[in-house]
Amino acid sequence: MATITMKFGGTSVGSVEAITNVVAITKREVAAGHQVALVVSAMSRITDGLLNIIQMAENRDKWGYLSEVQKMRERHEEAINALMAPGKNRDNTALAINKLLDEAVEVCHAINILSEASPRIRDAIVSYGERMSARLVAAALSENGLNSRAYDATQFIVTDDRFGSAAPMWAETERRIRDHLLPQIQEGVVPVLTGFIGATKDGAVTTLGRGGSDFSGAIFAAYTRSDELVIWTDVDGVMTTDPRIDRRAKVIDRVSYTEVGELAYYGAKVLHPKTVQPVLDLEVPIRVRNTFNYDHPGTLITAQSEAASTVIKAVTAVRNVSLLTVSGRGMIGVPGVAGRVFTAAARAKANVLMFSQSSSEQAMCLIVSDDMAQAAKEGIEDELKEEIARRNVEGVALQPNIAIVTVVGSGMRGTPGVAGRVFSAMGAKAINVLMIAQGSSECSISFAVDASELKDAVYTLHELAL
Ligand code: ADP
Ligand code: ASP
Ligand code: MG
Repeated sequence: MATITMKFGGTSVGSVEAITNVVAITKREVAAGHQVALVVSAMSRITDGLLNIIQMAENRDKWGYLSEVQKMRERHEEAINALMAPGKNRDNTALAINKLLDEAVEVCHAINILSEASPRIRDAIVSYGERMSARLVAAALSENGLNSRAYDATQFIVTDDRFGSAAPMWAETERRIRDHLLPQIQEGVVPVLTGFIGATKDGAVTTLGRGGSDFSGAIFAAYTRSDELVIWTDVDGVMTTDPRIDRRAKVIDRVSYTEVGELAYYGAKVLHPKTVQPVLDLEVPIRVRNTFNYDHPGTLITAQSEAASTVIKAVTAVRNVSLLTVSGRGMIGVPGVAGRVFTAAARAKANVLMFSQSSSEQAMCLIVSDDMAQAAKEGIEDELKEEIARRNVEGVALQPNIAIVTVVGSGMRGTPGVAGRVFSAMGAKAINVLMIAQGSSECSISFAVDASELKDAVYTLHELAL
């Protein structure tokens, strides 16, 4: 008997039609004799809505957050009424969800008085989306005769207290899932677990970062020793590029953990970048499938890569990033400059997405997200203030409106000339490449362009992957 963890994303639980599909998919797996665990995201757009009500409460817009909560209430109620017949199951589910929303309103009132929400309070409010959808989906499964129960992942996933992007404490999380969740699954319960959230040792609710339900799915798959993790989403699988950028995008049958890790890190929203982490060593296969197209086999992700007819398997892009250039003739030979620049960026809480240094050591380029760019620039300038005063370093230039374009394919390692083809293609289109870096895994090449050239660059390179 196999154990299968299935994660359903926001669109996959975002409507009555979608949840009806979730029920059908789950029933098939159970009928096939498998043990299943579900991990769910909030209904589509609910997480954005919750972030919105926090903002409105901070701005003392009481009418604003009350009416937004009312809309969420109606959306969930509509789903409950369509998915459940009148009776105890429907009443209890409505009661549980309304109670959560009442709590959210209470917290908003408190924020309204203080005009400020701490990161801890923000995570507590944002967690309501998944807590509602887990109850909704579990009730829909029960309504259809399955032995299902909703669980808040706060009791299983223990994290540090970096609210907004908390990291799991692996050993304790594993112990809790093994001791308290696995026995339920083995008894035939179909648990519906909240994605995206965890809690600190002291019980404060945390979130794992936007899109983090995929990561939650992988954590549960790993520690329930699942035979497979299925990421159910709204496209047929991992594609050669974002179908929203280029409609010619095709589904890739097979990719490796490493390849998909690069894809996700460099912008392919279909999987959260941390998804492969928990399942990598255990080699739990991941399948990405479409909740709305059951007959499509989707994409299989395993440790092995499969050679593609095109060396480049996929093209991705990251928007809303800035380029920081630290330059100066006197940088040559200043010991540890690169290290100090990185440390200063980290101190400013700026994650460096890409880095390169010119061979003459006269310039260092870093790419960071827009919202962190100014802080990173000031942090680096402060760190190098003596060198700047002595004119060894000219300063730190900030160039906004940048995009990173990445091509991925493990076949690149043994194929000469891939970089040449990529940059010739850019040259032929007169796209100006501002900076280049090759991934350490040697299965990706990333470069920076002006944001206005992003579509053209992706479109052109995508042709090499088709
Ligand atoms: P979910 O709510 O199921 O987690 P997401 O919206 O987070 O779904 O991710 C799925 C979306 O990712 C797709 O609708 C698609 O637009 C986008 N996407 C971006 N790049 C890719 C890619 N390379 N392959 C497939 N989908 C991609
Ligand atoms: N609901 C969360 C978000 O919108 C997590 C997820 O969907 O993966 O970011
Ligand atoms: Mg997602």
